[in-house]
Amino acid sequence: MAMTFLLRNFEGSCHCGALGFSFQTELPVAKWSVRACQCRFCRAHGALTTSDPRGRLRFHVSDDELPEHYRFGLKTADFLLCKRCGVYVGAQIATTHGAFGIINALTTTPVPQGLPAAAPADYGSESPDERVARREKQWTPLESVV
Ligand SMILES: [Zn+2]
Repeated sequence: MAMTFLLRNFEGSCHCGALGFSFQTELPVAKWSVRACQCRFCRAHGALTTSDPRGRLRFHVSDDELPEHYRFGLKTADFLLCKRCGVYVGAQIATTHGAFGIINALTTTPVPQGLPAAAPADYGSESPDERVARREKQWTPLESVV
């Protein structure tokens, strides 16, 4: 008998709730890919990011003024922070193959029990093309950019 997997929905948001997401994945929490990116931005936020290339992601915004679309480094993605409460919720990229995103797993509410230990990740040596290609492969398909 084939195993059936259930697409589970995880909601998350910034502290004040203006910027949130719905992340759907079949992966059990213990199998999530949790990454501690070693760039200065992610370390400063203590962010642990996750994505599922077979999942689905949608960001939602209660006030269009509030998401900050912060770009740095190669400037290929928007890092979404709430301008009111300062929380880094996730990132998005739009490419010729569609839109893709990651979430800061620590902004999932509640933070799921049993998250795997984060693997340190260092993407500093990537070229712009390599960076986009990695995100298309590893990030979660995003309904649309916000
Ligand atoms: Zn907020």
